[in-house]
Amino acid sequence: MSVALPVFLDHASTTPIDPRAAAAMAECLVGPEGLGNPSSATHAYGRAAAARIERARAEVAALVGASPVDIVFTSGATESDNLALIGIARGRASFGRHLVVPRTEHKAVLDPARHLEKAGWTVSWLEPAADGRITPEAVAAALRPDTQLVSVMHANNETGVVNDIAAIAAVCHARDVLVHTDAAQSAGKLPIDLVALGVDLLSLSAHKMYGPKGVGALVVTPRARPWVEPLLWGGPQERGLRAGTPATHQIAGFGVAAALAAERLAADAAHTGSLAARLRAALADLPGLRFNDHPSARLPGLVSVSVEGVEGESLIDALPEIAVSSGAACDSASGEPSYVLRALGLPPELAQSTLRIAFGRFNTVAEADLAAAAIRRAVTMLRAEDAPGPPPTAPGEPAWVVGEAGRTREGTRVRCYLRVAGPVITAAEFRVFGCPHTRAVTKALAAALSGRPLDPSMPAASAGDPSLGAPGDWSARHGVPPEKLGRLLVVEDAWQRAREAALAAARNC
Ligand SMILES: *Cc1c(COP(=O)(O)O)cnc(C)c1O
Repeated sequence: MSVALPVFLDHASTTPIDPRAAAAMAECLVGPEGLGNPSSATHAYGRAAAARIERARAEVAALVGASPVDIVFTSGATESDNLALIGIARGRASFGRHLVVPRTEHKAVLDPARHLEKAGWTVSWLEPAADGRITPEAVAAALRPDTQLVSVMHANNETGVVNDIAAIAAVCHARDVLVHTDAAQSAGKLPIDLVALGVDLLSLSAHKMYGPKGVGALVVTPRARPWVEPLLWGGPQERGLRAGTPATHQIAGFGVAAALAAERLAADAAHTGSLAARLRAALADLPGLRFNDHPSARLPGLVSVSVEGVEGESLIDALPEIAVSSGAACDSASGEPSYVLRALGLPPELAQSTLRIAFGRFNTVAEADLAAAAIRRAVTMLRAEDAPGPPPTAPGEPAWVVGEAGRTREGTRVRCYLRVAGPVITAAEFRVFGCPHTRAVTKALAAALSGRPLDPSMPAASAGDPSLGAPGDWSARHGVPPEKLGRLLVVEDAWQRAREAALAAARNC
């Protein structure tokens, strides 16, 4: 069976490797430079490997306006961020133990900062302004005489909001404090000039710019160099900041990707920007949408849109034709509403029903249109499943009775509508705001309820009718994970309340 893969619109989480970078890697792997250890200066293989790495170093440096000697190759931006924070913390601990880090950073910065906090450092956690940006004023207000490092990302991975790093760096340098920026999202999308930004450390990731996964870089300027302690020990590689034999083919792929990114910067930005604008325009008339991107200071190809009146997991589930993220890939597993989106003033339930659509170099206008149509259809379908008021009633039919349970805020709200003739349920319908599991259970329950006596212990009229069951059975039947049992209790509550309402109505007649 062949499964049609969805259109890839998740370029903020990773990018497809550019075929030219892949070809360079393949060539490198089997060639003499792939064989040689770049530290082996005694023979041609080692020298070829070293030369290939130096070429890539120059290509990566050129993309961000850095000196090649300042590039430290790492396994990715996560390692680069760790090296910046932990490395500076170790190197500067004797001068003071205070850091400034916004709450809206990537986990690769947040987690090392939390680790340092546990180890006795003080971290000033900055809140973003209402537009999602970290202001230079907020940074200035947080600086202390013992501050050793300020780390503020260039562009946010969830919203695409771009910070004014040059202004932030100026504030820090006026107080003689080192500055790191995580530029994993912006490199290759926005022009970056290390000197103009004025930062001392800058993180990059190859796989966010059409290079391979598993390689990145930390730019370490001469100002920061004396104060960075390595994380890995065991050799003099990367000027002593990253011991271990470098992965020549990975680095070569990164170099080619960086060179392509530099060459295509304006064209890529124009292309992805126009696809994003097209998607925003195509969705503009759909009510209840909130675009979270900054009006001007934003990444070109990223659209962050929150959708009112639909549950987040069901929204993603109803979009099988496009690969998009709900807020941030790193957060979507935890189910916690995104902090970055809540900081923009979004209530948790709206933060949870947010799509991040990130266009890339190889996307087409047709794919942007397909995404718009898919989102429109999914939102319309899910809102219809939660339409206000009872289902229609034909003349002469008895009115519906209703039982309600749950709350939108908690991610599940269920209304159960029953139509009853004497002791028998003749029709049952649900209106649901909930996850795909909740919706599957209510659909099955609606089918099982009609034709059944109001007294659940009585056998159903229609033969072969599956038993009604209880939340535990539904969970087994529909493969509902245990942590969602509470949502099935909401379904049960709604149906039991509808049943009680029907019984009360019968007694009153
Ligand atoms: C993707 C990303 C990272 C992590 O990069 P890896 O190379 O996957 O380790 C760090 N910071 C930001 C802002 C990112 O988008």
